[in-house]
Amino acid sequence: MNRSNVIDASANGHTGQGSLLGAADPAPVEMCHGSSASPVLLLCEHAGQAVPHALNGLGLPEGAIDQHIGWDIGAEDLARAVSDNLQCPLILQRYSRLVMDCNRPPGSEGSVPEVSDGIRVPGNIGLSAEGHDLRRHAIFDPMNNAINAAFDSHPRQAVFAIHSYTRHLQGQERPWDAGFLARRDPQTAQQLMDAISAAAPDMKLALNQPYQIDDASDWFIPRHAETRGVQHTLIEVRNDHLTHEAGVAQWADLLAGAIRSVLENTQ
Ligand SMILES: [Zn+2]
Repeated sequence: MNRSNVIDASANGHTGQGSLLGAADPAPVEMCHGSSASPVLLLCEHAGQAVPHALNGLGLPEGAIDQHIGWDIGAEDLARAVSDNLQCPLILQRYSRLVMDCNRPPGSEGSVPEVSDGIRVPGNIGLSAEGHDLRRHAIFDPMNNAINAAFDSHPRQAVFAIHSYTRHLQGQERPWDAGFLARRDPQTAQQLMDAISAAAPDMKLALNQPYQIDDASDWFIPRHAETRGVQHTLIEVRNDHLTHEAGVAQWADLLAGAIRSVLENTQ
């Protein structure tokens, strides 16, 4: 198996003057099956929960980074399993979405959240423009560059981002087992849903739930998928499916099978 490889840190804002990241901090981007010429590219922007040492844990309360506000629980395990199954490249972000959210436009609301699901993030409150720039350079730009490089290196027919969401948010119940998000390409999302429904009829699936794609709040679909005209979906699996191995394996099989059916149906 082609083991994952970490992109050279020196090429990714990891060293040099004014960098946010020190020698003990992980590189921001990890690539699995990076040399694969697969027509499919996978992203996992909320995989990691690292915080640069210089940011002192963002001043968060104990354990907060382990909750859904810090990362997409189980999304990394699921994305790796799908990538292994399809032998396709996967780009993972190692830093917490609370340091900088790589699926939001830099500078937008929520890009560096001051509050997330009711929990204050002290290290983000009143952050200076220089502070924003340091995070963008260290965290966001390397991921964005890696996505561009993956498109440049081989022709890609489809790109999927793998996320997870929490069942209860701000008093709202989100009962779906998984959501499939798209704006200009609802056909691909529907093909994924149809394939999963055929394999697992009891799963409750929804188009454009629990979120909708918007230029102001999204980066991957507006900036990397729609602009290139490739098939795409942002896939959201409810995170209680992904807290145990059997659930991850089940969803990896379902998603890999569904992505295969998308490729076969559009050839
Ligand atoms: Zn996410």
